[in-house]
Amino acid sequence: MIEKLLNDYFMVNLNKKLSLSNRAKLIPSKNYNEINLLWKEHQKIQSDLDNGKYKCLNDSIPDFSYLDLKIKIANKIFKECIFCPRKCKVDRNNETGFCGVRNPIIASELFNQNETLPIMFKTDYNINYNINSNINNNSNINNSNINNNFNTNNNSNSNSTIDSNIICNTNPNTDFNIISNSDSITDYNNNSNNSFNNNYNNNFNDNFNNSCNVDSKKDLNNKDNNNSNILENNNNNCKKSSLCIAGLNEESPLIPSHKIFFSGCTLRCAFCQNYEISINPKNGISINKKDLAFKINNNRLAGSSNVNFVGGEPTPNLNFILETIKLTKENIPIIYNSNMYLSTETMSLLNGFVDLYLTDFKFGNNKCASRLSGVSDYMETVGNNHKIALSSGNIIIRHLVLPNHIECCSIPLIDWIVENLGVDVVLDIVDKYKPFYKANQYQDLSKTLKSKDVERVIDYAKSLGLNNIIKT
Ligand code: SF4
Repeated sequence: MIEKLLNDYFMVNLNKKLSLSNRAKLIPSKNYNEINLLWKEHQKIQSDLDNGKYKCLNDSIPDFSYLDLKIKIANKIFKECIFCPRKCKVDRNNETGFCGVRNPIIASELFNQNETLPIMFKTDYNINYNINSNINNNSNINNSNINNNFNTNNNSNSNSTIDSNIICNTNPNTDFNIISNSDSITDYNNNSNNSFNNNYNNNFNDNFNNSCNVDSKKDLNNKDNNNSNILENNNNNCKKSSLCIAGLNEESPLIPSHKIFFSGCTLRCAFCQNYEISINPKNGISINKKDLAFKINNNRLAGSSNVNFVGGEPTPNLNFILETIKLTKENIPIIYNSNMYLSTETMSLLNGFVDLYLTDFKFGNNKCASRLSGVSDYMETVGNNHKIALSSGNIIIRHLVLPNHIECCSIPLIDWIVENLGVDVVLDIVDKYKPFYKANQYQDLSKTLKSKDVERVIDYAKSLGLNNIIKT
């Protein structure tokens, strides 16, 4: 079920579908100088997309694209910043607002190739993904000249390429933007002259078929006597799930992830688990867009499942992120790993760009949010943004269980999710709380988390029908 809920993400990951950002590069847009006109055009394209207008895309890159439109708007916002609801309205070229971020500073960048072995396996993945093999499309992922040193055991003689020009899916029964012309996972020619010199899927295939040393069917039979699909993200793989995972540092369906950690944050949570980055917006290095795009491409070719913009908080750097992705050439899912304290303008720009929202939903009421994160409109803002995210991409909702906040936050939050988002969402219950940053100044937060608290939250979620749970 988790795979179905994250279907679009997995399809892009497997190169069977264009990422939303690559699609945005192909959608033509009108260009204006006036911000109001830019927004009008943006809204028009969004509603055209909602109405299915761009099911068939031309293969030529327009002079000015939907992605260019987003970039132009974001660059205007940067000069009078309203990326988050704090709406500091400062010109970030010259000054900083609450977040303290001026130009993007990257605190660290992480891509652990070892996370690929094993990557991820699934018992019924191929069966569930009902790609119609008769699609007559010519998909185009532009040529990348990046040298790929990734070593796979690829023995494939396949000549299938992702080459030439994008997409026209003429089969109404299939999803649009499918970029495979076979019903199997695309194989890439391992020839160094290949325009798409990508071994990633071969590696995926190898792992997919051979490397899992656990009988995943057996796992299915060994499921608990309820219908929950719980992934436990630890090194003891394949415990309760139809997915066999390598549990390393990130939500299991997402690894190996190319994580880019931006310094600075729009919130100041007293218990911040990443405070070295979030409260020090100058902590790190400046990387130019071209170099970062090169790394994103290179890591994709080396096996990354996604590019994962995180922090701190990525939001103050939205224009930089959009511009960087414009320079990438590979088809890669974009993960927006965020506190979701974002302005409606930012949510609008992310719509049609982000493939998967990896969100933090921290509180279940405004009182705790105000006391511990300093914002009074938490539930309205973050809640509404979750509704938008769910309607515009795939989503994993992450909830860090806080000590002494089960009854006031975790339980009401789960109620809120069920009431507003339904039970068909992926929920990541995080039990890694540590009393970092200023937590020791708060009696309730200075304690360590008890495992029975986490179990209570999971049991409550299951009792309400939330069965797609990742535990990290
Ligand atoms: S991102 Fe938010 S906190 Fe930072 S300057 Fe912009 S509006 Fe202010």
